[in-house]
Amino acid sequence: MRTICWVGLAVIVVISPVLGQNASTGASEGLPALSHFDLNVVNRDIDPCVDFYKFACSKWLAANPIPADQAYWDTSSNLQLWNETVLRNAMEDSSEPAPGRTSVQQKIGDYWYACMNEAGIEKSGLAPLQPELDRIRGMKDKSEIAGVLAQIHMKMPNAWNGNDNETPAPILGFSSSIDFNNAQLQVAGVDQGGFAMGGRDFYLSDNEHLAEVRAKYLEHVQKVLTLAGESDAKARTDMATVVRMETAMAKAAMDPVTRRDPNKVNNVMNLQQVQALTPSFRWKDFLVAVKAPTPQHYIVTAPDFFRALEAMLQNESLDNWKTYLTYWVVDQNSPYLGKSFQDENFVFYKQAMQGRKEPLPRWRRCVRWADRDLGEALGQAYVAKAFPPDSKARSQKMINGIEAAMGQDIQQINWMSPQTKQKGQAKLHAVLDNIGYPDNWRDYSSVSIGRDGFVANVQAAAVFEYERQLNKIGKPVDRREWGMTPPTINAYENPQNNTINFPAGILQPPFFEASADDPVNYGAIGAIMGHELTHGFDDQGRKFDAQGNLKDWWTERDAKAYDQRGKCISDEYTGEVTELGVKTNGLLTQGEDTADNGGLRLAFMALEESMKQQGKSLDEKGADGFTARQRFLVAYAYSWCTNIRPELARTGITTNPHSLPEFRVNKVVSNMPEFWEAFSCKHGQPMVRAGACRVW
Ligand SMILES: [Zn+2]
Repeated sequence: MRTICWVGLAVIVVISPVLGQNASTGASEGLPALSHFDLNVVNRDIDPCVDFYKFACSKWLAANPIPADQAYWDTSSNLQLWNETVLRNAMEDSSEPAPGRTSVQQKIGDYWYACMNEAGIEKSGLAPLQPELDRIRGMKDKSEIAGVLAQIHMKMPNAWNGNDNETPAPILGFSSSIDFNNAQLQVAGVDQGGFAMGGRDFYLSDNEHLAEVRAKYLEHVQKVLTLAGESDAKARTDMATVVRMETAMAKAAMDPVTRRDPNKVNNVMNLQQVQALTPSFRWKDFLVAVKAPTPQHYIVTAPDFFRALEAMLQNESLDNWKTYLTYWVVDQNSPYLGKSFQDENFVFYKQAMQGRKEPLPRWRRCVRWADRDLGEALGQAYVAKAFPPDSKARSQKMINGIEAAMGQDIQQINWMSPQTKQKGQAKLHAVLDNIGYPDNWRDYSSVSIGRDGFVANVQAAAVFEYERQLNKIGKPVDRREWGMTPPTINAYENPQNNTINFPAGILQPPFFEASADDPVNYGAIGAIMGHELTHGFDDQGRKFDAQGNLKDWWTERDAKAYDQRGKCISDEYTGEVTELGVKTNGLLTQGEDTADNGGLRLAFMALEESMKQQGKSLDEKGADGFTARQRFLVAYAYSWCTNIRPELARTGITTNPHSLPEFRVNKVVSNMPEFWEAFSCKHGQPMVRAGACRVW
């Protein structure tokens, strides 16, 4: 269970003219320009106390329409393009088999060559998937499903990650998992899976927008089955089978709000108990096929899902299971096949679900797959180019300041007993900061990457990762292991090993800049650092102790006081978004919203301290006419300026625990006296919330 912080929403491409930003910096060696923060971006016609997001972002939003191949465009989009260009250059430079290529260069270079070889990919057609399709077709009895599913999972990128993924795995998820009760121990995790649209609501809700996506999904399934070689008539019948089976799995799945409660997903079982949930699924065959080490026990996140799966295994015919698995193998591999497969994949997953008008250019898709498949090989070139030791040192200094602010905050708050405060401080002091990139790079020498056969490369990398994840079972937990690659523009907190993690990819402009002054850096990356640290103390994180064990360290009275404050936040974020026609659920986003609420405050406290040490005043006006506290707040808002397509916004509200960018600005600052003071806002104005929410 990892709290990933979705900082960027998705991706980028064309460099738009950015208001008041210096578009020349960084445009060297074929690299695109980076965006830099500039206070000229604010719209002085708008009262910051009425709509702070519009005050900070409206000019930028007007000047930065969403490019056709994007589902959103935000102030990190140019950075995304910059990062991907660095990776492309590294791969291109290694793509010819020159003598003296290192093992890493051979892998990233040949991966690139095979991915960009579209003629070769087109020529192969469905052939790369034929062994898997034959294995499915060859099943004589439903008892063979477990063994065949294991083979499919191993070759499917991210299948080990089960349900919590943009690309879920067929039927179920299986991987290693840190034990909730003993954070030193890796056990096996069994999770729900099996429905391709990800969010249950896409299958079950009668909201008209979600029903519209569902209707497009039916067309998509039918089209994929046709591409797999079925006649139109058979594809129509089989489509109904696939959608019926996925809907049954979605219905049986644990809902995302319940899944946020670690006590509800911590269902410890032995193999006999797992087997008893699904007598018709041969777990032993599955475990042998994936070469799973024997765990001390299994954690089954959603036992009810597996009870329902048993009924499906009994009721659906062998032919129906063959249809379901065939669809999944072709659908999930479509991005790596020829043009007709790619096009259909785009039409549903990128157009219907995200609102993109055009696919990303091929090179950007190849870069992203390489980052997923060989991330710590490719990441070495990124770090060498983009993350000097100075950046790491300054980031560490900022994180230290924010951790000190949290310590001060815990001491100051009036709703917690000294006893719980002491435990909170112990947890805070045990937090491990991972910054930039791993100390020891992952060894990919056993992954065979060739110049022919792009699907084969993807599958080889998937098998490597699947086995790597499973091999953790029974071994000690490595707190220095990374769950994101170095160029990723994102960050996360892991409550089960008490770490906060900031990849080199986000320690870049406009979030972090060596030449920027403190107010700007603390407002942008500082708030993200505070956000991640706060996650350890949000409604999920607070249930884990300093070692990462799921253990209640709160007095009953303090826990109650916490829940009251949490409810203030979840109520604030629950409501109809009329322009999108969907409703937000503050219980789904409570952890992220709490982290935003506390994160910005912690960043402000750390800024105050840093300014004090330098003998500077927060009220001193700069040449732009803004005080330091105003610059801090505008830099925060600027880091969230986002144009987003309604399709992606709705998908996000349905499935994503993060609130929309506009809410991540206005709903946060409207709770903050520090904001009201900075802009002299008065009671009764929209950015001054009566009954302001605050946890940390
Ligand atoms: Zn977060």
